[in-house]
Amino acid sequence: MLNKKTVDDIQVKGKRVLVRCDFNVPMKDGVITDENRIVAALPTIKKLIADGGKVILCSHLGKPKNGPEEKFSLAPVAKRLSELLGQEVVFANDDTVVGENAKAAVAAMKDGDAVLLQNTRFRKEETKNGEEFSKELASLCDVYVNDAFGAAHRAHCSTVGVTEFVDTAVVGYLMEQEINFLGNTVDKPVRPFVAILGGSKVSDKINVINNLLNKVDTLIIGGGMAYTFMKAQGYEIGKSLLEEDKIDYAKEMMKKAEEKGVKLLLPVDNMVSKEFNNDAPFRVCEGNLEADEMALDIGPKTQAIYAEALADAKTVVWNGPMGVFEMSNFAKGTIAIAQALANLQDATTIIGGGDSAAAVNQLGFGDKMTHISTGGGASLEFLEGKELPGVVAVNDK
Ligand code: ADP
Ligand code: MG
Repeated sequence: MLNKKTVDDIQVKGKRVLVRCDFNVPMKDGVITDENRIVAALPTIKKLIADGGKVILCSHLGKPKNGPEEKFSLAPVAKRLSELLGQEVVFANDDTVVGENAKAAVAAMKDGDAVLLQNTRFRKEETKNGEEFSKELASLCDVYVNDAFGAAHRAHCSTVGVTEFVDTAVVGYLMEQEINFLGNTVDKPVRPFVAILGGSKVSDKINVINNLLNKVDTLIIGGGMAYTFMKAQGYEIGKSLLEEDKIDYAKEMMKKAEEKGVKLLLPVDNMVSKEFNNDAPFRVCEGNLEADEMALDIGPKTQAIYAEALADAKTVVWNGPMGVFEMSNFAKGTIAIAQALANLQDATTIIGGGDSAAAVNQLGFGDKMTHISTGGGASLEFLEGKELPGVVAVNDK
């Protein structure tokens, strides 16, 4: 079990608490287009405010390459946070993150106040886990809280380096929840345990497939990656996504599944088109494709087989859409799987991966799942069985 100290184990009254959040939200023209990550950070922030901590929030946003840039400013997040919390979150706008503005804002804080620092990646050392910036961050606080699961797979100043220079480091509620679901539930699943893997590439998911084959009773494969597997089975897959150099790997995984007694399910029919285009004609195709066709979604028979395989599941982990869900004609496979999960009574359903989380939310199944991970890359690394540096760093503090 991954037992970490959490915000429930510390006293914060009157203390300066630095909270690393994941406010890396998608934005368009300065407007936040998906605030899930901000909402997910609220329980920890509210708890620390209610307990009378001086709550100093920090996060990265996007990938500013050359230092400070207006379009990567966290100002819109401070504004939205203030609205969601019903109290002002002072935005300490400092190009150096821990500059005069930040120090003055922190010095002026009363118990229960909140301040948001500027984008940690405005400092180039951030992604290099440099000592100086780590120390500067630590100097602002008495206690450090890491609640940024989405950034936990990176060893940066604000996720790892800072912990070396503080006396107390704990995880927040979001981090705790992510560790519980992606770590503990997956490691000690209630069976039957079914994993569904899809998305575009086999090569992105190699270690996930390998690791989950050691744990699951059934592995369902769909999405673009399924066609490298179908090729390995000997089918003609036309112009479908193929990673030639992963055909042997696919064969190896099919063999591993057999040896382990894992039921491995692959598509038996697909929705195919001659163009990667929602307006082009398409058809259901069983088995071999024509040379000029590509598979863009799983077909109706496959949907039924997959739904059947999920019907008695008690634990389900899903990463990767079953088709090109961004196009309505090729979203049906993903919808069918989401529906099969939504139909389950007393099962734990866990969604990992950035596009998968977006798909489930967009298609209206968000509130039907037990847990939708806020971490894209981080959730995949967790499912690979890796230890995340940001999680490890709060150990033994
Ligand atoms: P996640 O971010 O959840 O890990 P991925 O990034 O691996 O998921 O995959 C998501 C992408 O895979 C989507 O943009 C989707 O359009 C694409 N995809 C799914 N099935 C296919 C397919 N058959 N052909 C091409 N692209 C596909
Ligand atoms: Mg993705």
